Amino acid sequence: MNGASFEVLVAGGGPAGLFAAIAAARAGRRVLLLEKAARPGVKVLVSGGNRCNLTHDCDEEEIVEAFGPNGRFLRPALRHLGPRELREAIESLGVPTKVEPGGKVFPVSNRAVDVRDAIEREMVRAGVLFRGREPLRGIERSAEGFRIVTARGAIEAARVVLATGGRSYPKTGTTGDGYPIAESLGHRLVPPTPALTPLAVPVPWANALTGLTLPDVQVSLHAGGRLVESRRGGFLFTHFGLSGPAPMNLGGAVAALRPSDRAEVLLDFLPESSLPEMEARLRAEAASGGSRTVRRILSTLLPERLVDALLAEASVPDDRQVARLAREERVRLLGSVLETRLPVAGTLGFDRAEVTRGGIVLDEVDPRTLESRIVPGLHLAGEILDLDGPIGGYNFTAAFATGALAGASAADAAGGSRR
Ligand SMILES: Cc1cc2nc3c(=O)[nH]c(=O)nc-3n(C[C@H](O)[C@H](O)[C@H](O)COP(=O)(O)OP(=O)(O)OC[C@H]3O[C@@H](n4cnc5c(N)ncnc54)[C@H](O)[C@@H]3O)c2cc1C
Repeated sequence: MNGASFEVLVAGGGPAGLFAAIAAARAGRRVLLLEKAARPGVKVLVSGGNRCNLTHDCDEEEIVEAFGPNGRFLRPALRHLGPRELREAIESLGVPTKVEPGGKVFPVSNRAVDVRDAIEREMVRAGVLFRGREPLRGIERSAEGFRIVTARGAIEAARVVLATGGRSYPKTGTTGDGYPIAESLGHRLVPPTPALTPLAVPVPWANALTGLTLPDVQVSLHAGGRLVESRRGGFLFTHFGLSGPAPMNLGGAVAALRPSDRAEVLLDFLPESSLPEMEARLRAEAASGGSRTVRRILSTLLPERLVDALLAEASVPDDRQVARLAREERVRLLGSVLETRLPVAGTLGFDRAEVTRGGIVLDEVDPRTLESRIVPGLHLAGEILDLDGPIGGYNFTAAFATGALAGASAADAAGGSRR
């Protein structure tokens, strides 16, 4: 097949590349999808705890906002394929979906492999030629458009969609291969850093709580004495620090700090309750006799293992009755419950990051077509772009949407001269 010519060549078989290839093939183009792994969609398989949180139950604007200032780049792609259309698209491939509390969308089967397999089948049905275990090595301009150099040879293509992802979770094959290739063609890069990554918090009492999960914790990141960012949601203690959605959503901000910033997180384990409310609760208990222990009262609100750790941290004996709780003890204890302060040593890096922050500079890409403004005929889609969203299905939504629009635009342009 060396030397063969394609109208659209897609590099990278993640959600962005798969939807780009399918869109271009459905438009009647001759499409080749090159993938480094044996099969496409490796990250889909590991996503959402192997359940694949494929999108969020919301409108386009909520997705745009979730991506922060860069989110507006996504508007045309989301008009092309919004979160509702994405859900319908996956359902139309025979994978029913459901919305979980909080708005995350999953397959009803809770099996990421169902999503991957359905998209892979559609790729074949649409007529995409797939070549696995064939990593892209370089892209050069040629008379036909592009000469694509792979591990096995060279291929000519009129249009290229570069969708090789970021640098996160390199064991799945995404090792940032696309960045130097885009740079060699003249693109600039916002330096990639890990995001959505667990936090390293080397504090023995917290690390001893490994495995303990909480559904709702407010986690506020402070550095250099100021609040950097605050996130609320699921929370997990681990042997190295903190994981789960709320801490991980702060991973990108932690990765951007310097060691001299002395980062710390403030944990509010009862974000629904204010300090005055908690004080009033303890006072009311004391007024009505107060024979119950503080431990017993807190254990109705939080897991016992955590309550014991917080009592120990606040130096309050675990048999202390509410009526006998000294003022200083109450202040220390409620401080632990509503504002535990832990130093943050850093993140667990790209190895454990769910996405990459940074990537191809957005100003250099037309959001209406995902075509490069530097290299006409080259389209860029998915995580390789300088876009990263929070946990909740936002990142897949962006990858599928930019992929679908890039593929459709590449197909349009590739067919323009002939049709
Ligand atoms: C553990 C984990 C869980 C996640 N869970 C979720 C979730 O539930 N919901 C959500 O929205 N997001 C989730 N994400 C993020 C999501 O996986 C990414 O945002 C998304 O996959 C990006 O899509 P993409 O197509 O741009 O890149 P990728 O999915 O990374 O795909 C890029 C593809 O390119 C291939 N490739 C790389 N280099 C080359 C090369 N040189 N030649 C050819 N092919 C190459 C790779 O093998 C890969 O298949 C998760 C990420 C991780 C790591």
